[in-house]
Amino acid sequence: KKRFVLASRPDGMPTRENFELKTEELEAPKDGEITVETLYLSVDPYMRGRMNDTKSYAKPYEIGGTFGGGAVGRVIESRHASHKEGDIVQGGWGWQTHAAVNGDHVVPVDPDLAPVQSSIGALGMPGLTAYFGLLDIGQPKEGETVVVSGAGGAVGMIVGQIAKIKGARVVGISGSEEKNRYLSEELGFDAVVNYKTESLGEALERACPDGVDVYFDNVGGEVSDAVFLLLNSNARIPLCGQISQYNVSDPEPGPRFLPLLLTRTALVKGFLVGQYQQRFGEAIPEMAGWMREGKLKYRENIIEGFDNAPEAFFGLFTGENLGKQLVKV
Ligand code: NDP
Repeated sequence: KKRFVLASRPDGMPTRENFELKTEELEAPKDGEITVETLYLSVDPYMRGRMNDTKSYAKPYEIGGTFGGGAVGRVIESRHASHKEGDIVQGGWGWQTHAAVNGDHVVPVDPDLAPVQSSIGALGMPGLTAYFGLLDIGQPKEGETVVVSGAGGAVGMIVGQIAKIKGARVVGISGSEEKNRYLSEELGFDAVVNYKTESLGEALERACPDGVDVYFDNVGGEVSDAVFLLLNSNARIPLCGQISQYNVSDPEPGPRFLPLLLTRTALVKGFLVGQYQQRFGEAIPEMAGWMREGKLKYRENIIEGFDNAPEAFFGLFTGENLGKQLVKV
């Protein structure tokens, strides 16, 4: 089997040097364990935070330890009563081609519901992040304007479509023409802004003639500064991610617009998808239903080959991915 371990901690943008690829004997499952063969690995922005040795909501990765993360795989051997050979499961065994894992720590995946890899994408962690952040905190109402940053990514494209389902006017911000074309032509976003090529303030004003009622923030930094200027009274801001700051060694000072939040009586609320675990069971069937009705679509950006997992991960910070970034093992 092969696995990636953390070789060193990055300063700024991570590089290949921070990873070591190990080839080892596949361990046999112990009582209560199953052996899985990985089909797809997830690469996610939060992993960058876990590469640092700083206190956060998730424990830092250990030097020499397996690079952790979500994966979906097939059971090839089982010593656990609830799983049998051939079953598809999803779990957190990280960047490994095979692993012996505790059978209580994986979740069965129904291959008839949707392609199995969506259990770590649109119907998994990123999709649930979009669902709960938007509906629980953002609470978009018919006719309101919802702006989402990181709109062409795994979380962002689901946010925009759920906001459309709720009758809102949806504006997406991304850094690529290809992403913006997909958002407006395929997903029906009402307006799109390219933060790399357009003058952000002007483009946003054009895109949001009635101001902004909900801002789903995936990126932070200058993009968010520009959106904050357009907030309406009683705006809601689900604070989901701040990817523009993840590779910055000296974080930019901020937030710069606290007086604005006060006078617009805005709500800013950070959240972690894990807080909603008890309610995943209500969200997944509802989202799967929207998919069957054609109201919720998703894209995956699939890189082939286990050995390319670090490059797939780096691409998240340069915007290579349209939709959920996955590695097909
Ligand atoms: P994405 O699929 O959106 O991939 C990341 C995207 O971020 C890139 O494609 C890129 O798109 C954009 N990006 C990268 N650097 C910058 C930058 N400096 N400024 C602006 N945009 C940038 O990732 P996810 O959908 O998985 O995650 C989106 C956000 O949600 C992240 O911040 C993540 O940490 C957060 N998150 C939070 C969770 C929670 O529980 N709170 C759970 C899951 C995710 P572009 O081409 O537009 O630049």
